[in-house]
Amino acid sequence: MNCWHCDRPSHGACRFCGRAVCKDHAQTMPFILEIYTGKEGEFKAIAVDNTLYCGVCKPHEDPITLKNLK
Ligand SMILES: [Zn+2]
Ligand SMILES: [Zn+2]
Repeated sequence: MNCWHCDRPSHGACRFCGRAVCKDHAQTMPFILEIYTGKEGEFKAIAVDNTLYCGVCKPHEDPITLKNLK
């Protein structure tokens, strides 16, 4: 697969949408791996920094408040 932006061979794929990107066009973004409930009943997220991001798709920048999650 070639880079979504420049059509040269890609070095990886966006963690969010799967588009291929080369090193020049790859961006990074934190990625939420897992969400769990804390001791006091609050929701917590385990996030990984610097996952590959294509710069085109639109993952939510702010954490979403999860309601009525059972
Ligand atoms: Zn590129
Ligand atoms: Zn993407």
